[in-house]
Amino acid sequence: MSSIVTETQAVVPKKQKKLKPARKQVKPGEVEKKEAPQTGKEYNIWYNKWAGGDREDSYSNKVKSQTRCNIKKDAGLTRANTTGVKYCCLFFARGCCPYGWECEYLHVLPDASIALPDTSKDCFARDKFADYRDDMGGVGSFQRQNRTLYIGRIKETGTGVETEEVVRRHFKEWGEIEKIRVLQYRSVAFVTYVSELNAQFAKEAMACQSLDNDEILNVRWATEDPNPTSKIQEKRRLEEIGREAIQAKMDPRIVDAMRALRALEDGDVLEDNEVVQDEDGAPEAKRRRLEIEDATEAADALEGLKYFAEIRKRNGFASPAVRSTPPPPPSQGLGLADYGSDED
Ligand SMILES: [Zn+2]
Repeated sequence: MSSIVTETQAVVPKKQKKLKPARKQVKPGEVEKKEAPQTGKEYNIWYNKWAGGDREDSYSNKVKSQTRCNIKKDAGLTRANTTGVKYCCLFFARGCCPYGWECEYLHVLPDASIALPDTSKDCFARDKFADYRDDMGGVGSFQRQNRTLYIGRIKETGTGVETEEVVRRHFKEWGEIEKIRVLQYRSVAFVTYVSELNAQFAKEAMACQSLDNDEILNVRWATEDPNPTSKIQEKRRLEEIGREAIQAKMDPRIVDAMRALRALEDGDVLEDNEVVQDEDGAPEAKRRRLEIEDATEAADALEGLKYFAEIRKRNGFASPAVRSTPPPPPSQGLGLADYGSDED
């Protein structure tokens, strides 16, 4: 039996008005450093870990984290606030940055309203891989936005609603939560953040931490929400983001030209010299619809459009050249059972 609790939370995260200089979370040498075993191809000095196909070894995933971030106490100004670095400090998220105000990275929660300079990186400036690692424990994927974390190994001591309350209390510290789903008696919860960036932060902040019962949480990316309604909503959301991104980047003349091409394909043939009368009787070139001011450019564009339309006809392609939506995420076929055992 599983109790499913879904709810939208309208709590806006409190913004600290005046940030003090960030405190040093640990003294150098305070945290016991363990040699990172080579699990990937590339060693990242800053993150003290292997990147590129790395895999969390079962040992590191089952030892409780020695430190934990406390946003209220630890957040503050660092060098990044003066240099303009937009990425968060991974050690800060894990509660063990010894640099404090001297750190080159931000010691605050990621700000979802500010677009990161590079969408192929996560909020800690780590490269996202082309797809998730098999165990869904990695950085994430740039092929889709995932805002939902899988939280395993929860020690349940009450009802599903009570567990949800505990999960919320611990996870709301890392950003605004959209919904929480608890699978009662399964030791599992799903936490969906409003922003992907907060999910990224929370994943690091809560890895191998405890809730109320001294457990060692197993925090991973969730696979796609199997609920068809949220799937459709997510698709629409991504389409909207894709459209905005493309329109922001594309030359408006190309956008107009694409619109014209679509019109051509719909059988609305544009003639070079076709002149229509508008309501006042003044001649109005139909190519005005292209909204291209310069007549020479318009002629060139039209020439190009006809050329491409011809090629398409010959090749039998009907799909538009520009996709306003990101490619659909690869279907993984992963169910809950594929997360591995959480009983141990
Ligand atoms: Zn730091």
